[in-house]
Amino acid sequence: MKRYSIAVLPGDGIGPEIMHEATMVLNAVGKKAGVEFALTEALVGGSSIDASGVPLTDEVLKLTLLSDAVLLGAVGGTKWEALDYSIRPERALLALRKELGLFANLRPARIYKDLIDASTLKPEVIDGVDLIVVRELTGGLYFGTPKGVEKLPDGTERGVNTMVYTTPEIERIAKVGFEVARKRRKKLLSVDKANVLETTELWRRVVIKIGRDYPDVELSHMYVDNCAMQLVRNPRQFDVIVTENTFGDILSDEASMLTGSIGMLPSASLGATKNRAMYEPIHGSAPDIAGKGIANPIATILSVAMMLKYSFEMEDASNAIETAVEKVLGKGFRTADIYQPGTKKASCSEMGEAVLKEL
Ligand code: NAD
Repeated sequence: MKRYSIAVLPGDGIGPEIMHEATMVLNAVGKKAGVEFALTEALVGGSSIDASGVPLTDEVLKLTLLSDAVLLGAVGGTKWEALDYSIRPERALLALRKELGLFANLRPARIYKDLIDASTLKPEVIDGVDLIVVRELTGGLYFGTPKGVEKLPDGTERGVNTMVYTTPEIERIAKVGFEVARKRRKKLLSVDKANVLETTELWRRVVIKIGRDYPDVELSHMYVDNCAMQLVRNPRQFDVIVTENTFGDILSDEASMLTGSIGMLPSASLGATKNRAMYEPIHGSAPDIAGKGIANPIATILSVAMMLKYSFEMEDASNAIETAVEKVLGKGFRTADIYQPGTKKASCSEMGEAVLKEL
């Protein structure tokens, strides 16, 4: 029997509630597929600060490094907002990304037919949207040097940030883009600003070079300003978008909001090897609804589906979860965040159970 070890970090706020539903789904899928998922739960973020004074202990970091994948809920909350930045709950996420070397952030945006009205865009524009943004996470404008603000002799100031990428950095993110596209509709769009930024002119050349190893994937290119426009004009044209850190930050937020429902969106962050991966919903710990049992667990359940697909090559099981979610929505189950008159209001656990039943 195949066995995978997974570090389960529920975190704060609604984290434990949504994680409970997601791990039930994971266990059920494992049972069906004859795969053993060995789950080890640990504290992270605010709950870790309360227990041991830091948002991520060395033991928990070690656990994540020894696991095949990490499943995270969310961290943070008003209780810890007065703390110094260096020990805030959110620092745990940055530390995990750095220590696990997670350089590729995958954020899908998919429209469910039954939730089409949740979007601010017209149904005929977004019907059928199913795309994923692959964002480079550890380089580019956010990390390049020189950076900073300096005083000039005339009393004014000068601010600098540097967009920098090396060939190996572009190669590895391009490969992730092509691999993801291979698991989908085999269309990869590389987004750059090669008409103005030399860094992204290199980006384009390297992506084209890597593309020679993926003849089955159709590669195209677009400038970032055009892409931002096309995402709201005709988002159906996209399958997989691969792009620089800052561009990806902006475009992935724009893309996810096409769906209009934050409680539905999963994400994955991948590193250089198979056992370096973290899966989490894109939303936060939602302190305003924590403990009320009304959080939407679907983003976390779909994060499990991503884990099965990208870490464990369990495509069928992953698709089964996505189909189950679709069916549950089709039957009218809605948590409060996506509720519309005429549908069935479900609690967090009722939603989890409904997905489980469909599986
Ligand atoms: P948030 O995503 O937690 O909440 C924004 C709004 O969406 C809230 O009204 C919330 O109730 C709602 N919402 C979010 N997830 C939901 C779900 N699954 N079901 C139903 N409704 C949901 O963002 P915020 O309020 O800006 O931040 C709250 C805390 O979360 C802060 O401490 C912030 O730092 C932290 N945060 C953590 C992460 C993370 O762990 N990855 C990401 C974003 C924010």
